[in-house]
Amino acid sequence: MHASSSPSAVPSAWQPSWHSNGFASLGPAFLTRLQPTPLPQAQLLTHSPDLAAQLGIPAAWLASDAAAQMLTGNQLLPGSQPYASVYSGHQFGVWAGQLGDGRAIMLGELQDGSDPAQGWELQLKGAGPTPYSRRGDGRAVLRSSIREFLCSEAMHALGIPTTRALSLTSSPAPVYREEVETAAVVCRAAPSLIRFGHFEHFAARDQQAELRQLADYVIDRYYPDCRNAGTQSRGSPYAALLRAVAERTAEMLAHWQAVGFCHGVMNSDNMSILGLTIDYGPFQFLDGFNPGHICNHSDTQGRYAFGQQPQIAYWNLFCLGQALHPLIGEEDATVAAIEAYRPHFSQAFAALMRRKLGLPALAANSDESADPATAVVGQLLQLLASERVDYTIFWTRLSEAAASASYDAVQDLFVDHSAWQRWLLSYQELLQRLGAAPDADLMQKSNPRFVLRNHLGEQVIRAAQAGDAQPLRQLQTVLATPYDAHPAHSDWAGFPPDWAASISISCSS
Ligand code: AMP
Ligand code: MG
Repeated sequence: MHASSSPSAVPSAWQPSWHSNGFASLGPAFLTRLQPTPLPQAQLLTHSPDLAAQLGIPAAWLASDAAAQMLTGNQLLPGSQPYASVYSGHQFGVWAGQLGDGRAIMLGELQDGSDPAQGWELQLKGAGPTPYSRRGDGRAVLRSSIREFLCSEAMHALGIPTTRALSLTSSPAPVYREEVETAAVVCRAAPSLIRFGHFEHFAARDQQAELRQLADYVIDRYYPDCRNAGTQSRGSPYAALLRAVAERTAEMLAHWQAVGFCHGVMNSDNMSILGLTIDYGPFQFLDGFNPGHICNHSDTQGRYAFGQQPQIAYWNLFCLGQALHPLIGEEDATVAAIEAYRPHFSQAFAALMRRKLGLPALAANSDESADPATAVVGQLLQLLASERVDYTIFWTRLSEAAASASYDAVQDLFVDHSAWQRWLLSYQELLQRLGAAPDADLMQKSNPRFVLRNHLGEQVIRAAQAGDAQPLRQLQTVLATPYDAHPAHSDWAGFPPDWAASISISCSS
């Protein structure tokens, strides 16, 4: 499955089929054509068999040295015309001006293996400098590339909208951060890697024609229903687009909050127009539940603390709304489209939490604020926060308790047993009202045993830095089916060790 460092005798050929009407067809205002900068001794550390199969990439090709070279940017995939795109954005609440793909080089848009209408943009992250690198070196270090690779695929396995990762290649070339590290390249994939910041860029420069061209492209390729949604959205397909993005963003945020994922750098240039989780930097899955948790060492004000995330997404949608406003024309329509975010988030979050609690789904169109489960969820989250209960383990044990009807192992997680008993009573009363036992099967499928906690990532990073990528691949395999038991790796489902609290993750990557 994985390539060795020695080149295979006969490299397998793979002829990618590229989409002719991809982002690059928008023209030179949107991108700069350029070549990746090679890295020495490139080696494939791991790849996603699942994504490779979807893209129709032969396993034999992936095992070849040609694949390691091409997925590092040392040779070009046949037919690829690489480029970097330009975008701008708000970073930490402040307008940052022009940014752009500073170290991500797009290879092009691949046609999906089974559905040629569907494309997959392939991008090499860490493949060398571009005109948008500013003072950066265009590289990514092995440490952060392992985190991006593992988390992209782990989020996908959790059913959370995300960019994907096809491959992770490494090189011994030095990369200078706080200390000297080594280089790596992740081949990132998504139907589109367009960000809110792409729209902000042309709006800020008053490039109306390009702004409209970009919006039309996104509507035609990814939101075709918005084209004819004009009458409902007061004459504007662009208002319909904004509303659709708001709803997808709400969906993504609901997933983050339900699973306990903290992104860490929700700048508007890190927000996907398709509502995908993108740019895995200082992210963290919560250990003890704490809405105030800040996972990014560089975020001194806690702007991107776990509990702030839903509000920040809404703030970012305002940035997008401001950018699209000249196309929409009517202020009321712009605001109404953004406002779709709030109820959509509440509904999506309530639905996910009901699943985690093993409750039947709410009937369509019912008001979740009047739903008694909403109060039970709210009380639970308060209790988990006040006791800093391990979030993932709580849900795993609650699922197991639902199957066995013994809640002792859950109670053991709390210091204040009577507070726990009070909550359990309200949960059981709710179940009685609904006339149902908790759906243990649904709970098992909704509460992952394995998430990419910081200390797990750290362990496999240290091994890979020392030359052993086997633990990385094992962790990848476990995270690919996170709801299963994996008895051989039960320690990865356990409490974090004391040293986990001292791991410091910053924007440096
Ligand atoms: P991020 O904080 O990763 O979202 O990156 C913000 C901006 O900085 C984007 O334009 C990135 O392309 C750019 N950037 C981050 N790291 C580097 C680097 N090592 N070299 C060049 N550009 C970078
Ligand atoms: Mg970014």
